[in-house]
Amino acid sequence: PEPQVPRDPSKKTLVILGTGWGSVSLLKKLDTENYNVVVISPRNYFLFTPLLPSCTTGLIEHRSIMEPIRSICRSKKGPVTFYEAEASSVDVNRKIVKIRDSSDIRGDSSETEVPYDMLVVGVGAENATFGIPGVRENSCFLKEIGDAQQIRKKIMDCVETAAFKDQPEAEIDRLLHMVVVGGGPTGVEFAGELRDFFEDDIRKLIPDIADRFRVTLIEALPNVLPSFSKQLIEYTESTFKEEEIAIHTKTMVKKVTDKTVEAEASKPDGTKERVVFPYGLLVWATGNTLRPLVRDMMASIPAQKDSRRGLAVNEYLVVQGTRDVWAVGDCAVAGYAPTAQVASQEGTFLARLFNNMAKTAELEERIQTLSSSLNLKPGVNSASVTREIEEAERKLQRIKDIKPFHYSHQGSLAYIGSEKAVADVSWFNGNVASGGTMTYYFWRSAYLSMVFSTRNRLLVLNDWVKSKVFGRDISRE
Ligand code: FAD
Ligand code: NAD
Repeated sequence: PEPQVPRDPSKKTLVILGTGWGSVSLLKKLDTENYNVVVISPRNYFLFTPLLPSCTTGLIEHRSIMEPIRSICRSKKGPVTFYEAEASSVDVNRKIVKIRDSSDIRGDSSETEVPYDMLVVGVGAENATFGIPGVRENSCFLKEIGDAQQIRKKIMDCVETAAFKDQPEAEIDRLLHMVVVGGGPTGVEFAGELRDFFEDDIRKLIPDIADRFRVTLIEALPNVLPSFSKQLIEYTESTFKEEEIAIHTKTMVKKVTDKTVEAEASKPDGTKERVVFPYGLLVWATGNTLRPLVRDMMASIPAQKDSRRGLAVNEYLVVQGTRDVWAVGDCAVAGYAPTAQVASQEGTFLARLFNNMAKTAELEERIQTLSSSLNLKPGVNSASVTREIEEAERKLQRIKDIKPFHYSHQGSLAYIGSEKAVADVSWFNGNVASGGTMTYYFWRSAYLSMVFSTRNRLLVLNDWVKSKVFGRDISRE
């Protein structure tokens, strides 16, 4: 079949897997006129994950933080081909990606191969469950738009079921008990949003059951938000106390059933205690694990045999043990945390690298043409041609001197509920830790400025104003 965009045989084919933070940051800064660019992802949009927890309660409508990848592709100078498909395998020796359409509607062609000259793997990660029984069947994750929609529906289902005629007392308590497992930023932000939802809206609309509502956060380590400074951990824990969000630290979940979470809590004397939490809604936020595609690639590349958390890359983000394959974001191990901030800087770095590589190729070609013209017609304009060659060589040297990837940490931000946020921000080579309402306004403006398009920025602003004035929409879709 004819490709969507005619392939220019004089250019290399650059295949980009994924439409997340890493891949889209690359695409945004890439000069697409230099390559035949092909983007492959099962998701035909970019998702602004930092505001995803706000979608679980309807504070922000999900479409406000989705940006169609086709609009991004259209805005590029050179043509970009997009296939809505997942990469099922990569053959690094034959330089081929196998792709398959995994959406509901499939045509006669739903599995095929895409050859590449250069490949960027930016497929992100999956939710870790550590094989704990019952997690996949009974809990919600919080990674994709569909997860946030499912949580939003389930919250209201629990509330309406708790308000059902003659509901037994114990059942009301169970249904209105929302349990969050994992005290990293995802779990903490979600717990904060949930508490806001009940205080701001449910309490007003369904006051008779509002006092029974409880949020519990379970964390295996001694404290929540382990990557934040000690002062902010304490601030978060004390804010949660005021918000009546119960934190159970040093508590490791071992099993999940359809109505209970079973955990092992370590007591101060070192003994262990079995604790059972009945729940109505369970949200599982215990971090990342490898996607099957990444696991298979690692198994097929001998140099990756010692890597555990993802594709080990060198300082130029080249996947170790391969040629012409790069990796960015949560699927790459470059020595940094799996965050949007890291992924986007890596994507931007690769765009610069690829733009430079194209310029290098152009200059090398020019030097070759000039040199051969010099050889063919000796003496003719030789001084000026030589000068031109020297100038091109100097330029080439400058371009070739591209520095390795260096991550610049701008800080960490997290929302913790009741219009408060915590921030560890780098400021003039130092670190500033702050928590409270001012930090919340900083959090909001920082995230608003990071939203990729003006359209999405306006939609998010509109959602904030709408929720403030009219409250969240509690209809269950
Ligand atoms: P992703 O953004 O996850 O993108 C992966 C892409 O690959 C997706 O488009 C996916 O559909 C696609 N894909 C999957 N499988 C395949 C396949 N087989 N073939 C092709 N494509 C595939 N980080 C921060 O720095 N600040 C924050 O405030 C923040 N908040 C967060 C809030 C939440 C709720 C979550 C879940 C994460 C948050 N993060 C935050 C972390 C951040 O979202 C991730 O680190 C970031 O998304 C990683 O970018 P990525 O490009 O590697 O992966
Ligand atoms: P995480 O890996 O940061 O935290 C998961 C937590 O779950 C850990 O603290 C771990 O101890 C705990 N845990 C694991 N197994 C457990 C069990 N059986 N019982 C109880 N607790 C258990 O995961 P996350 O919060 O999803 O974050 C993933 C990545 O995304 C991180 O790099 C994070 O920094 C980033 N992120 C950042 C923000 C932000 O900056 N605002 C928001 C969300 C996510």
